[in-house]
Amino acid sequence: MWIVNHAADRVVLVNGSLLPLLAPLLPHLPTVEHVVVTGPGDRSLLDGAAPRVHEYEELIAGRPTAYDWPELDERTAAAMCYTSGTTGDPKGVVYSHRSIYLHSMQVNMTESMGLTDKDTSLVVVPQFHVNAWGLPHATFMSGINMLMPDRFLQPAPLAEMIEREKPTHAAAVPTIWQGLLAEVTAHPRDLSSMRQVTIGGAACPPSLMEAYDRLGVRLCHAWGMTETSPLGTMAHPPHGLTAEEEWPYRVTQGRFPAGVEARLVGPGGEHLPWDGESAGELEVRGTWIAGAYYNGVDGEPLRPEDKFSADGWLKTGDVGVISPDGYLTLTDRAKDVIKSGGEWISSVELENALMAHPAVAEAAVVAVPDEKWGERPLATVVLKEGATADYETLRAFLADEGGIAKWQLPERWAIVPAVPKTSVGKFDKKVIRRQYAEGELDVTQL
Ligand code: AMP
Repeated sequence: MWIVNHAADRVVLVNGSLLPLLAPLLPHLPTVEHVVVTGPGDRSLLDGAAPRVHEYEELIAGRPTAYDWPELDERTAAAMCYTSGTTGDPKGVVYSHRSIYLHSMQVNMTESMGLTDKDTSLVVVPQFHVNAWGLPHATFMSGINMLMPDRFLQPAPLAEMIEREKPTHAAAVPTIWQGLLAEVTAHPRDLSSMRQVTIGGAACPPSLMEAYDRLGVRLCHAWGMTETSPLGTMAHPPHGLTAEEEWPYRVTQGRFPAGVEARLVGPGGEHLPWDGESAGELEVRGTWIAGAYYNGVDGEPLRPEDKFSADGWLKTGDVGVISPDGYLTLTDRAKDVIKSGGEWISSVELENALMAHPAVAEAAVVAVPDEKWGERPLATVVLKEGATADYETLRAFLADEGGIAKWQLPERWAIVPAVPKTSVGKFDKKVIRRQYAEGELDVTQL
C-alpha cells in the first residue's frame, strides 16, 4: 500500500487469486483508477470498488497487433521497482529505456548469463523484484522462451515443471534452490537440462553449489541490487581451469562486467586496494546503476548521503574484498556484520559453515546485544526433516570443519521451524532480531 501510494500508481494489474488481498486495500489507494484482472478468481470481491475493473482478456481481444510506438527520449522512465525496505521505507528506483536496453545486452553476453535463442529460461523471480532480474527484457531481446511458474513456486511443482519443460537456464534466490534440493533428494527428478542456473539476491552457500554439482546442475553466483537493475557481478571462473582450480572463483560473488565500475571504500572514506584482503564498503556506478531514488521532497530525485557518495557513486551497504583479478567476495551487509569487542564477525561465513552440516537445512545468524562484547552472534537453525543435532555438535562442527575461529563461535543457539523470509525469499534478519528482543525464541546459551 505504501509503495502504490508513493508511486501514485493509476493502474493495477492483478491475478484473480490475489483479489482477497487487494480488495480491502483499494479504499486506501486513492490514485488507482483502473484494476485489470487476469486468471481465475472471485470478481465479486471488487463490487462497489472505486476504480474501474477490467478483464485483461477482454481488454486485449480484437486489438490490432501493430502499435504506433511514440518517439521517446531513451532516457524517459520505462519501469520502476522498490527496494525491499529492510531499513526504513522502501525506495523507488526508476529504470529508463536506455538502462533497460543496455542491461539486457549485458545479461545476454557470455560473461553474464550467456542466453541465446536456443535457451529456455525459467524465471523463478517475482516481477516486482528488480523486473524479475531484467529477464523478461533480456529474453525478449534474444528471442528466448521464458517460463514463469505463476504462483506454483513450491518445490514439488517446480521440480515437476523443470523435468517436463526442460529449461536450459534458470534464475532464483538461494532459498528456492534450497527447497528444490530437499524435494529432489526425497523424490528424485531429472534437473540436468539446466546447464546454467543464476543464483543471487543473497549469498549462495558453497555446500548448496556442491550439492547441485552432484545433480549435474551448475549454479553460477551473481550479485546485484534493485539499484543495479540488478546485474552487478557474475562468478564465471577464468577460462581453462580444472574443476578444482575453478572452485575458489565460483564461491565468490564474481566479476564486474565492463559497464559496471566498482571501488571499495574504508571506514575513513579512503579507497582500498584490490588485494583480496582489504575489506570495505562496495560502491558502484554505471549505465544501469541508479544515481538517485524516485521522488524525494517536492518531486526532486532523492540522493540520501548514506546511499550516494558526494561524487555520485552508489553506496551498496555491502562489505567485502576484491581480488587482484577483480573477483568480489562479500563478507556481509554492513548492517548485518556482528561487531564483537571491536572485531567483526561475518554472519554469512557462519551461515555458510552451518549449512554445510548434513543435519542443517537452513541457518541464519544475527547480531544480538551482549553486555561484555557489545554484540555476539545468535545462530538460528532449521534442521532437515527427521534430522537431529545438538548445539555442542554444531558448534564443534563450525570450529573443526568450518574453520571458524574460536572467538567467533556463537554461544547463543535456537532451533526454529523456519527462517523468516522477505517477500522475495531472502532471510529476514530484522524479524529474527525482533523475535529475539521480544523473547519469542527458545534460546540456549552454551
Ligand atoms: P535487493 O535490492 O532486495 O535485491 O537487495 C540487494 C542486496 O541483496 C544486496 O545489497 C546484497 O546485500 C544482497 N545480495 C544480492 N546478491 C547477493 C549475493 N550473491 N551474495 C550476497 N548478497 C547478495
